[in-house]
Amino acid sequence: MFVFIFLLIAVVVWMAVTFRSRQAVKDCRWRENRSKDSEAGRYFICMNCGAETRTGDGKPPKICRKPQDAS
Ligand SMILES: [Zn+2]
Repeated sequence: MFVFIFLLIAVVVWMAVTFRSRQAVKDCRWRENRSKDSEAGRYFICMNCGAETRTGDGKPPKICRKPQDAS
């Protein structure tokens, strides 16, 4: 019985760790919207987190630009 409790705790810890790492490496799926282009560059919006950005070279950013919580 003790082994089962230990296994349960191990699984919970493993899930927590993988969930955290998954959030940390959460990558953005950028989609361009040429109707919102400006002098600053091509407009991209992230389908995952809703972040918006503009890039001068017309390529989507490599990193996630998830907006900071305004709390
Ligand atoms: Zn994102």
